[in-house]
Amino acid sequence: MGMSEKKNPNPSKFETLEVSNFLRQIIDADLAAGKHAKRVDQAGQALPSVITRFPPEPNGYLHIGHAKSICLNFGLARDYANAPNGARCHMRFDDTNPSKEETEYVDSIIDAVRWLGFDWVQNGVEHQHYASDYFDQLYAFAEALIEAGKAYIDSQTADEIHKNRGNFGQLGTNSPFRNRSPAENIELFRDMKAGKYPDGAHVLRLKIDMSHPNIVLRDPVIYRIRHAHHHRTGDKWCIYPLYDFTHCISDALENITHSICTLEFENNRPLYDWVLEALKECGVFKDPLPKQYEFARLNLTYAITSKRKLLQLVEEKRVDGWDDPRMPTIVGIRRRGFTPESIRLFCERIGVSKADSWIDMSVLEQALRDDLEAKAERAFAVLKPLKLIIDNFDDQAEEPCSAPKHPHHEDWGRREFTLSKELWIEADDFMVEPIKGFFRLYPPKDGQPGSRVRLRHGFVIECTGYDTDANGQVIAVHAQYFADSKSGTPESNNYKVKGNLHWVNARSAIKAEVRIYDRLFTDPHPDSGDKNFLDAMNPNSKEVLTAYLEPSIADVQAEQRIQFERHGYFVADRIDHTSSNPVFNFCVGLKDNWK
Ligand code: ATP
Ligand code: MG
Repeated sequence: MGMSEKKNPNPSKFETLEVSNFLRQIIDADLAAGKHAKRVDQAGQALPSVITRFPPEPNGYLHIGHAKSICLNFGLARDYANAPNGARCHMRFDDTNPSKEETEYVDSIIDAVRWLGFDWVQNGVEHQHYASDYFDQLYAFAEALIEAGKAYIDSQTADEIHKNRGNFGQLGTNSPFRNRSPAENIELFRDMKAGKYPDGAHVLRLKIDMSHPNIVLRDPVIYRIRHAHHHRTGDKWCIYPLYDFTHCISDALENITHSICTLEFENNRPLYDWVLEALKECGVFKDPLPKQYEFARLNLTYAITSKRKLLQLVEEKRVDGWDDPRMPTIVGIRRRGFTPESIRLFCERIGVSKADSWIDMSVLEQALRDDLEAKAERAFAVLKPLKLIIDNFDDQAEEPCSAPKHPHHEDWGRREFTLSKELWIEADDFMVEPIKGFFRLYPPKDGQPGSRVRLRHGFVIECTGYDTDANGQVIAVHAQYFADSKSGTPESNNYKVKGNLHWVNARSAIKAEVRIYDRLFTDPHPDSGDKNFLDAMNPNSKEVLTAYLEPSIADVQAEQRIQFERHGYFVADRIDHTSSNPVFNFCVGLKDNWK
């Protein structure tokens, strides 16, 4: 279960780090007490001592907050694989809301969770479930609760139900329909199911306590009429169960042991327990019942994780779709170049707690940097090109040069390229009037020679001048080279220079589209208080450049990550990159220098 060693032969050193947290302590205590040790399924098969689930509603694309929940739930199943009868995590689609859910979202969710490195197969059995698979059982259990006098049909309008629920300081008022007999309730419920009533005519409510201090327990609605098509059950149903009823029952039917959710469900926990206890009394379930535990959701600075707001960004075309590399969606951060390992590492580092807090975006970025440092091959890329002409270099000569693919993995081999008379260098690496502390290229002035720099893995050059166009814009830099200064030769040590520039040969460079991304928002809390998150959008979060890359780039496959020396990490775009039309996205810089 979980990530097999086979799929992940080089787990990051952080990955085995198992930091304890309050959930692990609960599971450890349950294991020590043997709480779930003797359970068997309907076929008499022993059940795992730890079963968790990840229960998204298929009404949008998953985002980085969901990744925290995925890594937590699937991670627990992976880490407790040695518990009695093992452990597993179910992939469950919480698809009780007919109109908002779509198969497109189901597919994207499956894709995202698999990509993060998890699966839901144990002993060859797939544990992919849908709440809609339980509609028949949910209906039967609702009838059982009606028979037991624990549920009733209410025929008040939605407004009346809302008003009579009361609020914090005000107790609720019993519905005039609260004392209908079980027989009358059953008949009405069956007629609701049979489609005899329009939407909103009746609802089924639990009969708990209209003056309970916890408003959630004031006779919650558990079924409503919705004449709507469902993505899996079609038109079979016109009544649909609500979350609080469905979720705990789905957990119990799947023999979930630890049902982990975010803190906003804390008030719903007594209802979770109430429903399962009531069904236990009806003989439907038995101990040990699943238990709900809450943890603090991920709040990430410079990002928004509301599905509604993310949808708005997409629909108003403020980003280039769900998988825009600036989006905090899993498809977005994947396209940005994040690896599954980096996201798992991030989730390990932020940990799990019961206290709400903010995690800085730089923590996510650092996790990617730390993962890619050891993995990404190096290459030269000139992002804002300026021509460099070495006037004393032979017109036809092509000097072979090479550099390691990775400075700490000589075994990965070397990149081969050539140096010629005309090169591309970074426009920023030349200044007509150097500012203090600028050690790169600048021309001779007032009898002082121009600066000397090393062309990495090539020769030392000295700047001799530059050309400008009619507007005074620098269009080329001139230099001379020192033939005995080649990198790797003993004589090269005679040259001491402060600048060390990357470059590409203008004759053999590969032209590429490079997309430079920055944070989507300039405000760390773009949607806090009554701020409009659209006001905080960074107008410079995307810049498209035409860059020149060294020839070894020709072999790069889509989704391969590379370190462009001195610039940072880049990924070959998984959609648009081809060997004849290379496209790279900026992932993250070499250092955290976001201000
Ligand atoms: P909605 O508002 O549409 O319900 P949601 O973000 O709760 O959105 P779900 O599909 O219900 O989306 O979420 C699936 C699971 O992911 C839930 O268990 C939820 O608690 C968890 N989850 C959602 N957002 C976060 C977050 N920011 N941090 C951690 N877990 C999250
Ligand atoms: Mg939700």
